Amino acid sequence: MSMSVLRRNALCFAFCLLAFFSACSTMPRNTGRKLGESPVLSFEYVFAPLRDDAELDLDTTPRGNEPAPHLRRAWVLLQRKRPQEAIDASALVLYGSEAPSPSAEAFARYIRAEAFNAMGQPQDGAYDRTRARELSLDERLRHRIDDMTPVARPKLAANAGSPAPARMSDARPRTEWNPSATIRSRLDPMGDIYRITVHHSAILLRSQTPAAAASQLRSIQKTHMQTEGCGDIGYHFLIDPAGRVWQGRELRFQGAHARGDNNVGNIGICVLGNFIRGREGQRPTAEELAALERLIASLSAEFDVKRDQVFCHSDLVNTQCPGAYLKNEVDRIARELPSPRSAVNRRGAAAE
Ligand SMILES: [Zn+2]
Repeated sequence: MSMSVLRRNALCFAFCLLAFFSACSTMPRNTGRKLGESPVLSFEYVFAPLRDDAELDLDTTPRGNEPAPHLRRAWVLLQRKRPQEAIDASALVLYGSEAPSPSAEAFARYIRAEAFNAMGQPQDGAYDRTRARELSLDERLRHRIDDMTPVARPKLAANAGSPAPARMSDARPRTEWNPSATIRSRLDPMGDIYRITVHHSAILLRSQTPAAAASQLRSIQKTHMQTEGCGDIGYHFLIDPAGRVWQGRELRFQGAHARGDNNVGNIGICVLGNFIRGREGQRPTAEELAALERLIASLSAEFDVKRDQVFCHSDLVNTQCPGAYLKNEVDRIARELPSPRSAVNRRGAAAE
């Protein structure tokens, strides 16, 4: 090979390298960037057109707390017809160890709303959509939100004794966990619903299988009925680590979860796991928190529960339930509910 050919080849190689790196810098991924430098969250970055199948390794979750790569991955998952995973990826931004910026939250909630639409459950994304619209700082994102198919408000079914409202139809029915027969004489009618209380099961649960959750539900029901003399499991809804919502006690019956009169008009939700800080504790999963937020949003919309009427068990009686890891999240979810804050102080209402 002559010198000139070599030189030409070297030049060509250098050009290729240059072209490659400059192409990388416009790619919506974390290449060509200095270590530790994070991609900037922007409309262009998150919604860049899909390039090819190799764009993202969809089975690898980006490391770190920076929202942009997680949101980009969520969007690509959605484009690849994997809406549930898109919801999970957005949850990492919404419920990660750091609170998301308004802009990051707007992107995450918009993607969630689109994903619920894609799954044929637009109602589940209604709250996300409203929040995304409120928080969005980007005009193009607001246009996208406005262009989504409008969601009809759910029909209210607030009367005690009526069947479970449509919004809760995604809860796994009782038959899915094979409960023992209830003792009807020990069950009181629910009456008007006006508050919600969140608990944990206080039992460490790592398994994400439906069988493990069902077994846990049977065991909780057994304890409530045999040890505490209840007519059924005490909670109305239970949420497992995979984010499945299970129907507990029927809503037409008053719960048995918050002691005495605290149960009046009070929907009991139990998140499976032990969320007390310390060696025996665990953090709630992103799926559990997403499901809890959705459930509380839907129940408060159905029954007009004000945000200062969403409690933790520890707001009502002297207990560690539902544990510090979960309590912070419940407080945040309540704070973010769209209902207006009433004049009553949240703590003050709970004291007594
Ligand atoms: Zn409790």
